[in-house]
Amino acid sequence: MTDIVILGAGPAGSAVALGLRRLGHAVRIISEWRRFAAVEGVSQRVLDGLRQAGLSRALACAAAPSPRRVQWNGDGQSINQECLLDRPPFDAAIREDLRAAGIEVLEARVLKVESAEDGHLINIESGEPLRADFLVEARGRQAPLAGGRLRGPETLSLLNQWREEPGRPGSAVESLPDGWAWMARLEDGRCYWQITLDAAASDLPPRGQLPEFCARRRSESALVRELFGPEALQPASLHARSSTAILFHEASGPNWLRVGDAAMAVDPLSGNGIFQSLSSALQAPAVINTMLQRPERAELARRFHQRRVEHLFLRFARTGRDFYALEQRWPEAPFWRDRRTWPDAEPMHAPADFSKVRVERAPVIHDDLIEEADVVVTADQPLGIWHLQGIELAPIVTALQRGKLNLALANLPEQPRRMLQGWLLAQGYRP
Ligand SMILES: Cc1cc2nc3c(=O)[nH]c(=O)nc-3n(C[C@H](O)[C@H](O)[C@H](O)COP(=O)(O)OP(=O)(O)OC[C@H]3O[C@@H](n4cnc5c(N)ncnc54)[C@H](O)[C@@H]3O)c2cc1C
Repeated sequence: MTDIVILGAGPAGSAVALGLRRLGHAVRIISEWRRFAAVEGVSQRVLDGLRQAGLSRALACAAAPSPRRVQWNGDGQSINQECLLDRPPFDAAIREDLRAAGIEVLEARVLKVESAEDGHLINIESGEPLRADFLVEARGRQAPLAGGRLRGPETLSLLNQWREEPGRPGSAVESLPDGWAWMARLEDGRCYWQITLDAAASDLPPRGQLPEFCARRRSESALVRELFGPEALQPASLHARSSTAILFHEASGPNWLRVGDAAMAVDPLSGNGIFQSLSSALQAPAVINTMLQRPERAELARRFHQRRVEHLFLRFARTGRDFYALEQRWPEAPFWRDRRTWPDAEPMHAPADFSKVRVERAPVIHDDLIEEADVVVTADQPLGIWHLQGIELAPIVTALQRGKLNLALANLPEQPRRMLQGWLLAQGYRP
């Protein structure tokens, strides 16, 4: 049996481990703990993804939705909701999920990986090196940089934390002349404030003075005064990390795959980091299964993974760009100027254009393997759609192109027939 080793027990590596285990593969995971405590805001989509991945204990760590205030472009506050995720207990619960599924978790720091055609030698901080036939790189943003990559504007996030009296939980986000700040307060009184700035900002003080710099910035914020007590105005413990968006041009090799932040890391503004890391991880078990069980389709499987990683990345990058563009008070400030136009000027959703609807061969997931099928490509869905509510779409579009749409629809019950007619109309088809 192929020995698969996964590096990194974050949401991505763990979702791959559980998926491979379900498919009957032998898998081990090596990970150290994160070196800092953080709280992250997640949406319902992340909770759905955790459920789908089988990370039920991790899912149970998400706090109930709490109000999030948003102050952007000088507009009055709007309020929505997000669930706050305390990462240390969340990361610990992920490991419980892994162990409960019978997956071996080795707690160790990976120092170096030597890769060759016939396998990998993994050097860890304490203990003998380990061998793997297949490697999954899921060490998040700490994964070694390798190969070509696309980088967004260089971005730095400074996370500050302190403690106050217990109180009502909540979070807030606000735009600033040189960046933006996200802040959260947990029920037990732990408080977090994170400012995201251009990494090259000329007015950043030396590292030792960053806590005072952050405290001064908090003192200028009305939102900080609303959410926190006077303790917020004191310098606090600080962790600096890069939050530059990165896309790797090579998300796989003949005997390895990158998933999660190790394959593409998005700007934290989108609030979609965990969602996108799960998205690339949930498809990975079928990709690896194909590479191992059907080597003749390995290239197809790798193409499937790469296209999806790139597609997801661009979607989140454009979401971030459009949100940056909503802030219009400082168009010439370097932070806003560089981010409102990156990665490109393509719209988030391409408008319907029936002349672009066509049938193509493309890789799809079927029975936990990647295979090639006829899919329907549209302006907004360049990767193609195979099934629409369980109905294969390519035969319908082919019939339409041959002037036999009514014949193809005639065999279907009324509800799916109407659904398909509605979909065609939405693509710009005019009978
Ligand atoms: C500033 C900032 C704010 C963010 N805020 C949010 C947010 O509010 N909401 C959201 O959804 N996402 C947010 N994210 C993104 C989110 O943290 C990541 O997208 C997500 O954790 C990625 O999951 P992953 O499994 O790919 O990697 P990670 O969660 O980073 O997991 C990687 C694992 O590998 C381990 N590891 C690393 N190096 C080694 C090594 N050498 N040896 C052994 N183990 C190692 C790490 O300890 C960790 O356990 C934010 C990111 C940043 C940078």
